[in-house]
Amino acid sequence: MRVKKRLRHRKAVQFYSTYFGFREPYKVLVNGTFVHHLLVHQLLPADDTLRELLSASRSTPLFTSKCVYTELRRLGKSHAEDFDAETASYEHDKVVSAVDCILSLVGDKNPEHYFVATQDSDLWEKLREVPGVPVIYGLKNSLFIEQPSVQQRKFAQLDEEKRIHMEKSEFKKLLKVSSEGKATGDGNAPGVTEKSKFKRNRAKGPSSDGETKRNSVRKRKRSGKDSNQAETSS
Ligand SMILES: [Zn+2]
Repeated sequence: MRVKKRLRHRKAVQFYSTYFGFREPYKVLVNGTFVHHLLVHQLLPADDTLRELLSASRSTPLFTSKCVYTELRRLGKSHAEDFDAETASYEHDKVVSAVDCILSLVGDKNPEHYFVATQDSDLWEKLREVPGVPVIYGLKNSLFIEQPSVQQRKFAQLDEEKRIHMEKSEFKKLLKVSSEGKATGDGNAPGVTEKSKFKRNRAKGPSSDGETKRNSVRKRKRSGKDSNQAETSS
């Protein structure tokens, strides 16, 4: 099981390397809820934990922002002191909510190639509207990389030229078309959003039926055309 999980994570990382140009050293942008999770479950030192998750050969620098530190201090003073990360290079003047701050750092195209690590489901939802943003989250003692969505796979299959010039609004249209279309391919009943799927899994934990089912569906799917394409084009 453990090997399978590692393989799934490798494939996700490979997907973002192939289609969105992610390269080592990978950058992980963390928010307060994720730091809280790391500290509560003692998944430290954080850069080692993330390096293992991403199967990275080099150490994985963590990034955060002033706004996130402000949020951390609100969660508990010791959190901010215990946690050490670089501050992202671009930062706006005013302190905004951590969610808005992370969204502004990611922008329309995630040019810095951040993996975003957060436990915040509202933020997950918003990050799905940006094409190349892998999301990392924790369930108890384990960390996970969210598998690329059907929409992200579709986006990745477009010509490179088209991808580079696609605006966020067009990507949103693509999201809409995909979710209105027939079966999405990952076992979602029509009308069941990604968000509610996430919530369900979170509530049950990683070893629940929901998670197992999802995995087997994904596995089946990936053994088909998608994985061949990913391999030949990488
Ligand atoms: Zn900020």
